[in-house]
Amino acid sequence: MPLDGAQTGRTAPLSGTGMTVDYNSLLIALGICGACLLVTIVMSWMLARSEHFLLTWAIGVALIVAYSLVYTRYLASPNRWIGAICFAILMFALVALVHAAAQFRSVAKPLWFAFAVGSIATAVTTLPLLLGYDGLGFIALNLAAAGLLATTGWQYWRGREEAPGPIMALTILYGILSAGFLLCAGVLIVEGRMVLGAAPRNWAEDVSLGLNLAAMTGIGALSLALNHWRAAAMHRREAMTDALTGLMNRRAVFEQFESTPFGPAMAVLACDLDGFKSINDRYGHAAGDAVIKGFGAVLRKIVGEQGCAARLGGEEFAVVMAGLTPGAGQELAERIRSTFAAQIIQTDAGPLRCTVSVGLAFGQIEGAKFEDVLRAADKALYLAKQRGRNRIIAAPQRLAG
Ligand code: GH3
Ligand code: MG
Ligand code: MG
Repeated sequence: MPLDGAQTGRTAPLSGTGMTVDYNSLLIALGICGACLLVTIVMSWMLARSEHFLLTWAIGVALIVAYSLVYTRYLASPNRWIGAICFAILMFALVALVHAAAQFRSVAKPLWFAFAVGSIATAVTTLPLLLGYDGLGFIALNLAAAGLLATTGWQYWRGREEAPGPIMALTILYGILSAGFLLCAGVLIVEGRMVLGAAPRNWAEDVSLGLNLAAMTGIGALSLALNHWRAAAMHRREAMTDALTGLMNRRAVFEQFESTPFGPAMAVLACDLDGFKSINDRYGHAAGDAVIKGFGAVLRKIVGEQGCAARLGGEEFAVVMAGLTPGAGQELAERIRSTFAAQIIQTDAGPLRCTVSVGLAFGQIEGAKFEDVLRAADKALYLAKQRGRNRIIAAPQRLAG
């Protein structure tokens, strides 16, 4: 049975401890917990301002803090306008959480859409309250809250590939919160009173508030961990990527293949642009960079997902490809050479052409080390340079030491 507004001091016993905590104190605890979380989120956002989801999430948490404070006012004096303000704050807070989750997955709809959803949810929930049917209003509020929290959980669930552990835990916590609100709606529906005259107070409200308090802490810790996880992954990726071409860098390719035995069907192509120094000298460093980028694009297009293309440094590149016969290796190298030779590269200094020399080497039946195959490809590349450039030379089948 819901109690009326005068009975707000009622206590909710904490099982087994013999201690009692009143509903108001739990609400204030929720506000304090949210405020602490807010400070941490804002600090995290200041370190990673491009992560807009942190800011949206901070707004959501700030609104939850505001909700818990204004709701204590409503508990004390159940004025319908104060109630309506509470409803609006909670709806916009939960819409902000959905929006933050969508931003986290980079699938967020435009901001006006979030405002529209928040406004509709506010209208649907406050209208019965303002018309005097507060029971109906609270049912609508709890159902809308359950739906928005479930949607937030669903958003994270769909992005679980990025960090399965923390994201699945987040989904579960949002699911539990959603179930708490659903329970509150269910109890009110069973009671079937359209007019309450005060904030609903029943066992489901106590359970739900307890869940909110526990989940806020859990969700806060998990979301911040997730943010750090993402930042660490981004730094790892950056450390493995060549900034100019977007290809793997030297470290990445060596790390990837350092313990791979290179069999006779695994090829390494060593590529070095021809006469590159004179391009730099005549047209400037920026034009040289554009040529390097152009060759990177050729490698990405031709090698694609079938192999690995990396910039080893300067204008030197390597390609690693498995499952090649010597003839197919030669063909691959020829495609790279001829495509690049035919390409006109647009630079600030005007259109330029450049060529590339390629050394080709294969692994061995007993399995060769990557660095040995690369060295053999480099030797072949040196020969290609000596013999006039813009050509491909294959290393002898047995790798020289
Ligand atoms: P070769 O045909 O024998 O290869 O002659 P080359 O002029 O290409 O000689 P080399 O390979 O020794 O030239 C490398 C030059 O690449 C020297 C260096 O100034 C330039 N370089 C290295 N890194 C970069 C870069 O990131 N951007 C630009 N624009 N130039 C670079
Ligand atoms: Mg070079
Ligand atoms: Mg060169």
